[in-house]
Amino acid sequence: MIELSHIVKTFGDHTVLNGISVTIREGSVTALVGPSGGGKSTLLRCINLLEIPTSGRVRIGAEAIDFRPQVRVPFAEVQKLRRQTGMVFQNFQLFPHRTALGNVIEPLVTVLKWPHAKAVARAEELLDKVGMAHKRDAWPAELSGGQQQRVAIARALAPSPRVLLCDEPTSALDPELAGEVIEVLVGLAREGTTMVIATHDLRLAAGIAHEAVFLEAGEVVEKGEARRIFSAPERERTQRFIATLT
Ligand code: ATP
Ligand code: MG
Repeated sequence: MIELSHIVKTFGDHTVLNGISVTIREGSVTALVGPSGGGKSTLLRCINLLEIPTSGRVRIGAEAIDFRPQVRVPFAEVQKLRRQTGMVFQNFQLFPHRTALGNVIEPLVTVLKWPHAKAVARAEELLDKVGMAHKRDAWPAELSGGQQQRVAIARALAPSPRVLLCDEPTSALDPELAGEVIEVLVGLAREGTTMVIATHDLRLAAGIAHEAVFLEAGEVVEKGEARRIFSAPERERTQRFIATLT
């Protein structure tokens, strides 16, 4: 289980997350939706601690950290929690000087110190899962956006994180390529991969999320079962926003 309790994030005197509490069940998919600037990316980055919350508690499985203003958490603790997560970015962020396979083995070899052959076997299995086995020796520049994103998903999954965090994984892609990526994410959801996905893509969000959280101006406006939030939101604010999604 992943538990975010009263997460506050401020940048200077700008409060970007204003006390967010969300529980994410093991094996579920949670969509983070809401207007631009609402805090979706910041919340994802507070889960993998690319941003350190100003205050609040982040729990992932057995690991938890309590954050307090002005109190520095030891890097080893941050790293332990971060390693429970994998992250997929809007713009893929593959290493340009590594092949598809090279990208996927990277975290296994450099961070987890796996022997090369074991890392390659795991990477091949994951490239196959995302439909990219045939491109294992291609450079990122030789791949379409959808293909790059599928390699990025394989790379994020390589160390077997407890949760896959996706920040707008389809928004840099045209609808057809987005469809390929959605198909991969749907497959992962079916296998019970725990995911949190920030997205403006209603096809993605409504297609695979079990739970939805509607964030606006750093606050949770509404959360609950995704099907209900997307079809019959309770709050008028959520209704207006859902109507703008395509
Ligand atoms: P979008 O839908 O456009 O991706 P979002 O919901 O992901 O938006 P965030 O990127 O989390 O929103 O941004 C929330 C707020 O935090 C914005 O007002 C943004 O300007 C601010 N913000 C984010 N990162 C920083 C930073 N490093 N320094 C200062 N302000 C930041
Ligand atoms: Mg964002």
